[in-house]
Amino acid sequence: MNLDDTIVATCSPPGNGSRGIVRVSGWRAIEIGDGLFRGTSGERLVETATNRRLGGVVRLGRFEVPAAVYLFRRPRSYTREDVIEFHLLGAPVLLGWLVESCLAAGARRAEPGEFTARAYLAGAFDWSQVHAIAGLIAARSDNQLRAAERLLHGALGDTARAARAELDELVSLVEAALDFAEEPIDFIAPDELRQRLAGVQRRLEAAVAAGLRADRWTELPRVVLTGRPNVGKSSLFNRLIAAERAIASPWPGTTRDVLSATVDLPGLECLLFDVAGEAEPRTELESLAQQSARRAAEQADLVLEVRDVADYAVCPAVAATTPRLVVLNKADLLSGEAVVRLAGQVREMEGVPVVAVSALDGSGCEELRAELARRLNARDAAVQEGDVALMAEHCTALEQAISALKAAMTVAGESGGPLSSAELVAAELRAAARALGMLVGEQQTEEMLSRIFSRFCIGK
Ligand code: GDP
Repeated sequence: MNLDDTIVATCSPPGNGSRGIVRVSGWRAIEIGDGLFRGTSGERLVETATNRRLGGVVRLGRFEVPAAVYLFRRPRSYTREDVIEFHLLGAPVLLGWLVESCLAAGARRAEPGEFTARAYLAGAFDWSQVHAIAGLIAARSDNQLRAAERLLHGALGDTARAARAELDELVSLVEAALDFAEEPIDFIAPDELRQRLAGVQRRLEAAVAAGLRADRWTELPRVVLTGRPNVGKSSLFNRLIAAERAIASPWPGTTRDVLSATVDLPGLECLLFDVAGEAEPRTELESLAQQSARRAAEQADLVLEVRDVADYAVCPAVAATTPRLVVLNKADLLSGEAVVRLAGQVREMEGVPVVAVSALDGSGCEELRAELARRLNARDAAVQEGDVALMAEHCTALEQAISALKAAMTVAGESGGPLSSAELVAAELRAAARALGMLVGEQQTEEMLSRIFSRFCIGK
Protein backbone atom coordinates (compact mmCIF):
# COMPACT_ATOMS: atom_id res chain seq x y z
CA MET A 1 0.00 0.00 0.00
CA ASN A 2 1.82 3.13 -1.20
CA LEU A 3 0.56 6.13 0.74
CA ASP A 4 2.00 8.60 -1.80
CA ASP A 5 -0.57 7.50 -4.37
CA THR A 6 -3.90 9.23 -4.72
CA ILE A 7 -6.59 6.54 -4.57
CA VAL A 8 -10.09 6.28 -5.98
CA ALA A 9 -13.05 3.91 -5.53
CA THR A 10 -16.81 3.81 -5.70
CA CYS A 11 -17.94 3.81 -2.10
CA SER A 12 -21.70 3.46 -2.51
CA PRO A 13 -23.23 -0.04 -2.57
CA PRO A 14 -23.05 -1.93 -5.90
CA GLY A 15 -26.05 -1.86 -8.22
CA ASN A 16 -28.45 0.88 -9.19
CA GLY A 17 -29.29 3.42 -6.52
CA SER A 18 -30.71 6.92 -6.33
CA ARG A 19 -27.26 8.21 -5.53
CA GLY A 20 -23.75 6.89 -6.10
CA ILE A 21 -20.54 8.10 -4.51
CA VAL A 22 -16.98 8.06 -5.86
CA ARG A 23 -14.29 8.96 -3.36
CA VAL A 24 -10.78 10.22 -4.14
CA SER A 25 -8.14 10.61 -1.42
CA GLY A 26 -4.52 11.77 -1.50
CA TRP A 27 -2.38 14.77 -2.26
CA ARG A 28 -3.61 15.01 -5.88
CA ALA A 29 -7.31 14.50 -5.06
CA ILE A 30 -8.34 18.14 -5.40
CA GLU A 31 -6.41 18.66 -8.62
CA ILE A 32 -7.92 15.49 -10.14
CA GLY A 33 -11.41 16.51 -8.98
CA ASP A 34 -10.92 20.00 -10.38
CA GLY A 35 -10.06 18.62 -13.82
CA LEU A 36 -13.38 16.76 -14.01
CA PHE A 37 -15.81 19.09 -12.22
CA ARG A 38 -17.33 22.44 -13.14
CA GLY A 39 -19.25 24.33 -10.46
CA THR A 40 -22.63 25.85 -11.38
CA SER A 41 -21.34 29.40 -10.94
CA GLY A 42 -17.85 28.63 -12.20
CA GLU A 43 -16.29 27.78 -8.81
CA ARG A 44 -13.04 25.83 -8.97
CA LEU A 45 -12.17 23.19 -6.37
CA VAL A 46 -8.52 24.24 -6.32
CA GLU A 47 -9.60 27.74 -5.33
CA THR A 48 -12.00 26.62 -2.60
CA ALA A 49 -10.27 26.89 0.75
CA THR A 50 -12.84 25.49 3.16
CA ASN A 51 -14.72 22.19 3.40
CA ARG A 52 -18.01 22.48 1.54
CA ARG A 53 -20.45 21.05 -0.95
CA LEU A 54 -20.51 22.43 -4.49
CA GLY A 55 -23.18 21.76 -7.11
CA GLY A 56 -22.30 21.45 -10.80
CA VAL A 57 -21.45 18.88 -13.45
CA VAL A 58 -18.75 16.26 -14.01
CA ARG A 59 -17.35 15.79 -17.47
CA LEU A 60 -17.27 12.16 -18.53
CA GLY A 61 -15.92 12.01 -22.10
CA ARG A 62 -18.41 13.84 -24.30
CA PHE A 63 -21.07 13.96 -21.57
CA GLU A 64 -21.73 16.29 -18.71
CA VAL A 65 -23.51 14.71 -15.77
CA PRO A 66 -25.09 16.69 -12.91
CA ALA A 67 -23.17 16.05 -9.70
CA ALA A 68 -22.37 17.49 -6.31
CA VAL A 69 -18.86 17.48 -4.98
CA TYR A 70 -17.94 17.41 -1.31
CA LEU A 71 -14.55 18.90 -0.68
CA PHE A 72 -12.66 17.92 2.48
CA ARG A 73 -9.25 19.55 2.87
CA ARG A 74 -6.67 17.76 5.00
CA PRO A 75 -6.61 17.14 7.91
CA ARG A 76 -10.36 17.63 8.26
CA SER A 77 -11.39 14.51 6.35
CA TYR A 78 -11.95 10.81 7.05
CA THR A 79 -8.46 9.82 5.86
CA ARG A 80 -6.84 13.07 7.14
CA GLU A 81 -5.74 13.60 3.50
CA ASP A 82 -7.36 15.80 0.86
CA VAL A 83 -10.61 14.06 -0.08
CA ILE A 84 -13.09 14.67 -2.88
CA GLU A 85 -16.43 12.89 -2.99
CA PHE A 86 -18.50 12.97 -6.16
CA HIS A 87 -22.19 12.38 -5.51
CA LEU A 88 -24.14 11.62 -8.66
CA LEU A 89 -26.86 9.38 -10.03
CA GLY A 90 -26.20 5.83 -8.78
CA ALA A 91 -25.87 4.20 -12.19
CA PRO A 92 -23.02 1.65 -12.24
CA VAL A 93 -21.94 2.64 -15.76
CA LEU A 94 -21.60 6.34 -14.84
CA LEU A 95 -19.75 5.55 -11.63
CA GLY A 96 -17.42 3.21 -13.52
CA TRP A 97 -16.70 5.96 -16.08
CA LEU A 98 -15.97 8.45 -13.35
CA VAL A 99 -13.53 6.05 -11.65
CA GLU A 100 -11.84 5.44 -15.03
CA SER A 101 -11.55 9.20 -15.59
CA CYS A 102 -9.87 9.61 -12.19
CA LEU A 103 -7.48 6.75 -13.05
CA ALA A 104 -6.66 8.41 -16.36
CA ALA A 105 -5.93 11.63 -14.45
CA GLY A 106 -3.35 9.82 -12.29
CA ALA A 107 -5.21 8.17 -9.39
CA ARG A 108 -4.87 4.47 -8.54
CA ARG A 109 -7.66 2.06 -7.56
CA ALA A 110 -8.00 1.79 -3.77
CA GLU A 111 -7.32 -1.56 -2.16
CA PRO A 112 -9.99 -3.03 0.19
CA GLY A 113 -10.16 -0.94 3.35
CA GLU A 114 -7.47 1.45 2.14
CA PHE A 115 -9.41 4.62 3.05
CA THR A 116 -9.77 3.35 6.62
CA ALA A 117 -6.17 2.11 6.65
CA ARG A 118 -4.98 5.61 5.73
CA ALA A 119 -7.16 7.13 8.44
CA TYR A 120 -5.71 4.69 10.95
CA LEU A 121 -2.12 5.32 9.86
CA ALA A 122 -2.73 9.07 10.17
CA GLY A 123 -3.75 8.46 13.80
CA ALA A 124 -7.49 9.04 13.38
CA PHE A 125 -8.31 6.05 15.64
CA ASP A 126 -6.74 3.24 17.61
CA TRP A 127 -6.32 -0.36 16.61
CA SER A 128 -9.46 -1.71 18.27
CA GLN A 129 -11.46 1.05 16.62
CA VAL A 130 -10.26 -0.16 13.21
CA HIS A 131 -11.77 -3.53 14.05
CA ALA A 132 -14.90 -1.73 15.14
CA ILE A 133 -15.25 -0.19 11.70
CA ALA A 134 -14.90 -3.67 10.18
CA GLY A 135 -17.66 -4.69 12.63
CA LEU A 136 -19.87 -1.74 11.63
CA ILE A 137 -19.55 -2.80 8.02
CA ALA A 138 -20.28 -6.44 8.86
CA ALA A 139 -23.20 -5.77 11.24
CA ARG A 140 -26.46 -7.32 10.11
CA SER A 141 -28.74 -5.89 12.74
CA ASP A 142 -29.25 -2.87 14.97
CA ASN A 143 -27.98 -4.77 18.00
CA GLN A 144 -24.79 -5.78 16.25
CA LEU A 145 -24.35 -2.22 15.08
CA ARG A 146 -24.57 -0.93 18.65
CA ALA A 147 -22.01 -3.54 19.82
CA ALA A 148 -19.62 -2.42 17.08
CA GLU A 149 -20.21 1.22 18.05
CA ARG A 150 -19.18 0.47 21.61
CA LEU A 151 -15.94 -0.98 20.27
CA LEU A 152 -15.54 2.10 18.08
CA HIS A 153 -15.94 4.36 21.06
CA GLY A 154 -12.96 2.63 22.60
CA ALA A 155 -14.63 0.36 25.20
CA LEU A 156 -12.11 -2.44 24.67
CA GLY A 157 -9.13 -0.13 24.15
CA ASP A 158 -9.92 1.59 27.49
CA THR A 159 -10.11 -1.72 29.37
CA ALA A 160 -6.88 -2.95 27.78
CA ARG A 161 -5.04 0.33 28.42
CA ALA A 162 -6.06 0.40 32.09
CA ALA A 163 -5.09 -3.26 32.60
CA ARG A 164 -1.85 -2.69 30.77
CA ALA A 165 -0.94 0.33 32.91
CA GLU A 166 -1.61 -1.63 36.07
CA LEU A 167 0.52 -4.57 34.87
CA ASP A 168 3.38 -2.25 33.90
CA GLU A 169 3.31 -0.81 37.38
CA LEU A 170 3.25 -4.26 39.02
CA VAL A 171 6.14 -5.46 36.83
CA SER A 172 8.24 -2.50 37.89
CA LEU A 173 7.44 -3.12 41.55
CA VAL A 174 8.33 -6.81 41.31
CA GLU A 175 11.53 -5.99 39.43
CA ALA A 176 12.49 -3.28 41.89
CA ALA A 177 12.12 -5.81 44.69
CA LEU A 178 14.50 -8.10 42.76
CA ASP A 179 17.01 -5.35 42.03
CA PHE A 180 17.07 -4.12 45.61
CA ALA A 181 16.74 -7.49 47.33
CA GLU A 182 19.42 -6.45 49.82
CA GLU A 183 17.60 -3.30 50.89
CA PRO A 184 15.00 -3.36 53.64
CA ILE A 185 12.34 -1.78 51.37
CA ASP A 186 8.97 -3.41 50.87
CA PHE A 187 8.01 -2.45 47.30
CA ILE A 188 4.80 -4.42 47.23
CA ALA A 189 3.36 -6.92 49.72
CA PRO A 190 2.93 -10.35 48.06
CA ASP A 191 -0.76 -10.48 48.96
CA GLU A 192 -1.41 -7.03 47.55
CA LEU A 193 0.24 -8.18 44.30
CA ARG A 194 -1.93 -11.32 44.22
CA GLN A 195 -5.09 -9.30 44.83
CA ARG A 196 -4.29 -6.76 42.15
CA LEU A 197 -3.50 -9.52 39.64
CA ALA A 198 -6.79 -11.24 40.42
CA GLY A 199 -8.55 -7.90 39.88
CA VAL A 200 -6.96 -7.44 36.44
CA GLN A 201 -7.85 -11.02 35.53
CA ARG A 202 -11.49 -10.44 36.54
CA ARG A 203 -11.74 -7.31 34.40
CA LEU A 204 -10.27 -9.07 31.37
CA GLU A 205 -12.58 -12.03 31.85
CA ALA A 206 -15.53 -9.64 32.01
CA ALA A 207 -14.39 -8.12 28.70
CA VAL A 208 -14.37 -11.59 27.13
CA ALA A 209 -17.80 -12.36 28.59
CA ALA A 210 -19.28 -9.13 27.19
CA GLY A 211 -17.66 -9.80 23.82
CA LEU A 212 -19.52 -10.90 20.74
CA ARG A 213 -17.67 -12.60 17.93
CA ALA A 214 -18.12 -9.92 15.30
CA ASP A 215 -15.74 -11.71 12.96
CA ARG A 216 -18.55 -14.23 12.45
CA TRP A 217 -21.14 -11.65 11.45
CA THR A 218 -19.99 -11.69 7.86
CA GLU A 219 -20.52 -15.44 7.84
CA LEU A 220 -23.92 -17.00 7.39
CA PRO A 221 -25.37 -18.74 10.46
CA ARG A 222 -24.35 -22.39 10.48
CA VAL A 223 -26.86 -25.19 10.92
CA VAL A 224 -25.64 -28.78 11.22
CA LEU A 225 -27.68 -31.97 10.75
CA THR A 226 -26.65 -34.62 13.26
CA GLY A 227 -28.06 -38.01 14.20
CA ARG A 228 -27.58 -41.75 13.90
CA PRO A 229 -26.90 -43.21 10.45
CA ASN A 230 -29.98 -43.81 8.31
CA VAL A 231 -32.34 -41.45 10.15
CA GLY A 232 -32.64 -39.42 6.93
CA LYS A 233 -30.14 -36.57 7.36
CA SER A 234 -29.03 -36.58 3.73
CA SER A 235 -32.63 -36.78 2.50
CA LEU A 236 -33.54 -33.82 4.70
CA PHE A 237 -30.46 -31.92 3.52
CA ASN A 238 -31.56 -32.39 -0.09
CA ARG A 239 -35.14 -31.46 0.77
CA LEU A 240 -34.07 -28.24 2.51
CA ILE A 241 -31.66 -27.12 -0.19
CA ALA A 242 -34.19 -28.24 -2.77
CA ALA A 243 -31.62 -30.17 -4.81
CA GLU A 244 -30.10 -33.64 -5.04
CA ARG A 245 -26.62 -33.09 -3.68
CA ALA A 246 -26.17 -35.51 -0.82
CA ILE A 247 -26.41 -39.20 -1.65
CA ALA A 248 -29.36 -40.62 0.30
CA SER A 249 -29.23 -44.38 0.49
CA PRO A 250 -30.57 -47.23 2.62
CA TRP A 251 -26.98 -48.22 3.52
CA PRO A 252 -25.77 -46.58 6.70
CA GLY A 253 -22.54 -44.58 6.60
CA THR A 254 -22.84 -43.16 3.09
CA THR A 255 -22.05 -39.57 4.10
CA ARG A 256 -18.38 -39.28 4.97
CA ASP A 257 -17.44 -35.73 4.03
CA VAL A 258 -19.04 -32.65 5.46
CA LEU A 259 -21.35 -31.33 2.76
CA SER A 260 -22.61 -27.77 2.91
CA ALA A 261 -25.06 -25.62 0.98
CA THR A 262 -26.80 -22.29 1.37
CA VAL A 263 -30.48 -22.45 2.29
CA ASP A 264 -32.93 -19.63 1.71
CA LEU A 265 -35.14 -19.23 4.77
CA PRO A 266 -37.91 -16.68 5.29
CA GLY A 267 -35.99 -13.43 5.93
CA LEU A 268 -32.45 -14.81 6.04
CA GLU A 269 -30.02 -17.34 4.66
CA CYS A 270 -28.08 -20.03 6.47
CA LEU A 271 -25.39 -22.53 5.70
CA LEU A 272 -26.61 -26.11 6.15
CA PHE A 273 -24.15 -28.96 6.81
CA ASP A 274 -24.73 -32.67 6.33
CA VAL A 275 -22.19 -34.73 8.26
CA ALA A 276 -21.42 -38.38 8.94
CA GLY A 277 -23.92 -40.11 11.24
CA GLU A 278 -23.01 -40.81 14.85
CA ALA A 279 -22.06 -44.45 15.30
CA GLU A 280 -19.18 -46.54 16.57
CA PRO A 281 -16.49 -46.02 13.89
CA ARG A 282 -15.34 -49.27 12.31
CA THR A 283 -12.54 -47.92 10.15
CA GLU A 284 -9.96 -45.13 10.26
CA LEU A 285 -11.91 -43.27 7.58
CA GLU A 286 -15.12 -43.46 9.61
CA SER A 287 -13.34 -42.22 12.68
CA LEU A 288 -12.00 -39.19 10.74
CA ALA A 289 -15.49 -38.56 9.36
CA GLN A 290 -16.87 -38.55 12.91
CA GLN A 291 -14.21 -36.10 14.03
CA SER A 292 -15.09 -33.61 11.32
CA ALA A 293 -18.79 -34.13 12.13
CA ARG A 294 -18.15 -33.27 15.78
CA ARG A 295 -16.13 -30.20 14.82
CA ALA A 296 -18.92 -28.99 12.55
CA ALA A 297 -21.46 -29.45 15.38
CA GLU A 298 -19.29 -27.53 17.83
CA GLN A 299 -18.96 -24.59 15.48
CA ALA A 300 -22.65 -24.55 14.61
CA ASP A 301 -25.10 -21.86 15.63
CA LEU A 302 -27.85 -24.45 15.68
CA VAL A 303 -27.84 -28.24 15.60
CA LEU A 304 -30.73 -30.09 13.98
CA GLU A 305 -30.84 -33.40 15.79
CA VAL A 306 -32.51 -35.75 13.34
CA ARG A 307 -34.23 -38.88 14.69
CA ASP A 308 -36.25 -41.63 13.12
CA VAL A 309 -39.86 -41.72 14.41
CA ALA A 310 -39.33 -45.44 14.93
CA ASP A 311 -36.35 -44.75 17.18
CA TYR A 312 -37.27 -41.36 18.58
CA ALA A 313 -35.86 -41.70 22.09
CA VAL A 314 -32.23 -42.13 21.00
CA CYS A 315 -30.44 -38.85 21.67
CA PRO A 316 -27.28 -38.38 19.68
CA ALA A 317 -24.28 -37.05 21.58
CA VAL A 318 -23.86 -33.43 20.45
CA ALA A 319 -22.00 -30.54 22.00
CA ALA A 320 -24.30 -29.54 24.86
CA THR A 321 -23.52 -25.83 24.49
CA THR A 322 -24.91 -25.57 20.97
CA PRO A 323 -28.62 -24.73 20.78
CA ARG A 324 -30.52 -27.64 19.27
CA LEU A 325 -33.78 -28.50 17.65
CA VAL A 326 -35.05 -32.08 17.42
CA VAL A 327 -36.39 -33.14 14.03
CA LEU A 328 -38.50 -36.31 14.04
CA ASN A 329 -38.13 -37.64 10.50
CA LYS A 330 -40.09 -40.26 8.53
CA ALA A 331 -43.40 -38.94 9.89
CA ASP A 332 -45.03 -40.55 6.82
CA LEU A 333 -44.54 -43.96 8.45
CA LEU A 334 -46.95 -43.18 11.30
CA SER A 335 -50.44 -41.75 11.59
CA GLY A 336 -50.72 -37.99 12.11
CA GLU A 337 -51.99 -38.53 15.66
CA ALA A 338 -49.09 -40.81 16.59
CA VAL A 339 -46.62 -38.22 15.27
CA VAL A 340 -48.18 -35.42 17.32
CA ARG A 341 -48.10 -37.62 20.41
CA LEU A 342 -44.42 -38.54 19.89
CA ALA A 343 -43.39 -34.94 19.31
CA GLY A 344 -45.19 -33.95 22.53
CA GLN A 345 -43.42 -36.70 24.47
CA VAL A 346 -39.94 -35.71 23.30
CA ARG A 347 -40.67 -32.02 23.95
CA GLU A 348 -41.79 -32.83 27.47
CA MET A 349 -39.01 -35.29 28.28
CA GLU A 350 -36.13 -33.20 27.00
CA GLY A 351 -37.44 -29.64 27.08
CA VAL A 352 -36.33 -28.94 23.52
CA PRO A 353 -38.30 -27.68 20.53
CA VAL A 354 -39.42 -30.53 18.25
CA VAL A 355 -40.60 -30.48 14.64
CA ALA A 356 -41.93 -33.57 12.86
CA VAL A 357 -41.23 -33.89 9.13
CA SER A 358 -41.03 -36.34 6.29
CA ALA A 359 -37.98 -35.78 4.12
CA LEU A 360 -39.58 -38.24 1.72
CA ASP A 361 -42.84 -36.42 0.96
CA GLY A 362 -41.83 -32.95 2.24
CA SER A 363 -44.56 -32.67 4.87
CA GLY A 364 -43.57 -30.51 7.85
CA CYS A 365 -40.60 -29.04 5.96
CA GLU A 366 -42.17 -25.57 5.67
CA GLU A 367 -42.76 -25.54 9.45
CA LEU A 368 -39.15 -26.61 9.91
CA ARG A 369 -37.89 -23.77 7.71
CA ALA A 370 -40.03 -21.24 9.61
CA GLU A 371 -38.78 -22.56 12.96
CA LEU A 372 -35.18 -22.40 11.73
CA ALA A 373 -35.61 -18.79 10.65
CA ARG A 374 -37.23 -17.90 13.97
CA ARG A 375 -34.44 -19.49 16.01
CA LEU A 376 -31.63 -17.96 13.97
CA ASN A 377 -33.19 -14.51 14.20
CA ALA A 378 -33.61 -14.88 17.96
CA ARG A 379 -29.90 -15.66 18.24
CA ASP A 380 -29.21 -12.20 16.88
CA ALA A 381 -31.62 -10.47 19.25
CA ALA A 382 -29.62 -11.98 22.12
CA VAL A 383 -27.06 -9.16 21.78
CA GLN A 384 -27.29 -7.37 25.09
CA GLU A 385 -26.86 -3.85 26.30
CA GLY A 386 -23.15 -3.37 27.05
CA ASP A 387 -21.92 -6.16 24.75
CA VAL A 388 -18.90 -5.20 22.70
CA ALA A 389 -18.06 -6.54 19.27
CA LEU A 390 -14.83 -8.53 19.30
CA MET A 391 -12.77 -9.87 16.42
CA ALA A 392 -10.81 -13.14 16.57
CA GLU A 393 -7.58 -11.17 17.20
CA HIS A 394 -9.14 -9.48 20.25
CA CYS A 395 -10.25 -12.78 21.76
CA THR A 396 -6.81 -14.31 21.20
CA ALA A 397 -5.06 -11.33 22.81
CA LEU A 398 -7.41 -11.32 25.82
CA GLU A 399 -7.07 -15.08 26.26
CA GLN A 400 -3.26 -14.90 26.05
CA ALA A 401 -3.21 -12.13 28.65
CA ILE A 402 -5.54 -14.07 30.97
CA SER A 403 -3.50 -17.27 30.70
CA ALA A 404 -0.24 -15.38 31.40
CA LEU A 405 -1.89 -13.81 34.45
CA LYS A 406 -3.02 -17.21 35.69
CA ALA A 407 0.52 -18.53 35.21
CA ALA A 408 1.89 -15.52 37.13
CA MET A 409 -0.50 -16.24 40.01
CA THR A 410 0.47 -19.90 40.08
CA VAL A 411 4.19 -19.14 40.28
CA ALA A 412 3.55 -16.35 42.82
CA GLY A 413 2.53 -19.03 45.34
CA GLU A 414 -0.26 -19.36 47.93
CA SER A 415 -1.79 -16.31 49.53
CA GLY A 416 -0.29 -15.44 52.91
CA GLY A 417 3.12 -16.79 51.85
CA PRO A 418 6.15 -14.94 50.48
CA LEU A 419 6.45 -14.26 46.76
CA SER A 420 8.10 -17.30 45.27
CA SER A 421 9.95 -17.00 41.93
CA ALA A 422 9.64 -13.24 41.52
CA GLU A 423 11.57 -13.44 38.24
CA LEU A 424 9.07 -15.85 36.71
CA VAL A 425 6.18 -13.70 37.95
CA ALA A 426 7.71 -10.67 36.25
CA ALA A 427 8.22 -12.62 33.02
CA GLU A 428 4.57 -13.76 32.94
CA LEU A 429 3.35 -10.25 33.69
CA ARG A 430 5.44 -8.89 30.84
CA ALA A 431 3.89 -11.54 28.55
CA ALA A 432 0.39 -10.48 29.66
CA ALA A 433 1.25 -6.82 29.08
CA ARG A 434 2.58 -7.65 25.59
CA ALA A 435 -0.64 -9.44 24.68
CA LEU A 436 -2.67 -6.42 25.80
CA GLY A 437 -0.37 -4.17 23.79
CA MET A 438 -1.89 -5.68 20.68
CA LEU A 439 -5.33 -4.40 21.69
CA VAL A 440 -4.13 -0.83 21.99
CA GLY A 441 -2.26 -1.15 18.70
CA GLU A 442 1.28 -1.20 19.96
CA GLN A 443 2.58 -4.08 17.99
CA GLN A 444 0.74 -4.59 14.82
CA THR A 445 2.76 -6.08 12.04
CA GLU A 446 2.39 -5.52 8.30
CA GLU A 447 0.64 -8.88 8.16
CA MET A 448 -1.92 -7.94 10.81
CA LEU A 449 -2.58 -4.66 9.02
CA SER A 450 -3.21 -6.31 5.71
CA ARG A 451 -5.35 -9.06 7.28
CA ILE A 452 -7.72 -6.68 9.00
CA PHE A 453 -8.02 -4.23 6.13
CA SER A 454 -8.59 -6.98 3.61
CA ARG A 455 -11.88 -7.68 5.47
CA PHE A 456 -13.16 -4.32 4.33
CA CYS A 457 -14.66 -3.87 0.94
CA ILE A 458 -13.15 -1.55 -1.63
CA GLY A 459 -14.32 2.02 -1.09
CA LYS A 460 -14.27 1.79 2.73
P1 GDP B 1 -28.72 -40.56 6.64
O1 GDP B 1 -27.83 -41.76 6.76
O2 GDP B 1 -29.16 -40.09 7.97
O3 GDP B 1 -28.12 -39.46 5.81
O4 GDP B 1 -30.05 -41.07 5.92
P2 GDP B 1 -30.47 -41.03 4.39
O5 GDP B 1 -30.97 -39.70 4.01
O6 GDP B 1 -29.40 -41.65 3.57
O7 GDP B 1 -31.75 -41.99 4.44
C1 GDP B 1 -31.69 -43.33 4.89
C2 GDP B 1 -32.90 -44.09 4.35
O8 GDP B 1 -34.09 -43.57 4.93
C3 GDP B 1 -33.05 -43.98 2.84
O9 GDP B 1 -33.49 -45.22 2.35
C4 GDP B 1 -34.16 -42.94 2.69
O10 GDP B 1 -34.91 -43.10 1.51
C5 GDP B 1 -35.00 -43.19 3.91
N1 GDP B 1 -35.73 -41.99 4.33
C6 GDP B 1 -35.20 -40.77 4.52
N2 GDP B 1 -36.16 -39.90 4.91
C7 GDP B 1 -37.32 -40.60 4.94
C8 GDP B 1 -38.68 -40.23 5.28
O11 GDP B 1 -39.03 -39.10 5.61
N3 GDP B 1 -39.61 -41.22 5.20
C9 GDP B 1 -39.27 -42.50 4.84
N4 GDP B 1 -40.25 -43.40 4.79
N5 GDP B 1 -38.01 -42.86 4.52
C10 GDP B 1 -37.04 -41.92 4.57
